[in-house]
Amino acid sequence: MDNQKVKDAKNPSGPVKVKSYKIWVDRNLCIGAATCIAVSPKAFALDSEAKAVILETADEDTIENIIEGTKACPVAAIFIEDEKGNRVFPK
Ligand code: SF4
Repeated sequence: MDNQKVKDAKNPSGPVKVKSYKIWVDRNLCIGAATCIAVSPKAFALDSEAKAVILETADEDTIENIIEGTKACPVAAIFIEDEKGNRVFPK
C-alpha cells in the first residue's frame, strides 16, 4: 500500500466514518483475499499483515461501490452501518 494513507492510523481497519456510514474490517475474519480491493481500490488496501485497511480516499468512492466491495468479501469480514446504527451489510 505504497503512498496510500489509512483513514485512521490508530484504527487502520476501522471503525471509521465514511460519508455518513461506519465501516470496519474484522481482522480476525479477513483472510487477505483482496476481493474488496479489486472492487473498491479507493476504500480498501492490504497492510503488511495482509489484512484489509480502510483508506483516506474511501470518501472519493460511492457508498454503493463500497457496499459492492463489502459484499464481494468471501468471508464477510467487512461491516457497514448507517448513521442510525442500522446494519447495511451483512444483514
Ligand atoms: S475481501 Fe475480505 S478477506 Fe479479502 S481482503 Fe477484503 S476484507 Fe479481507
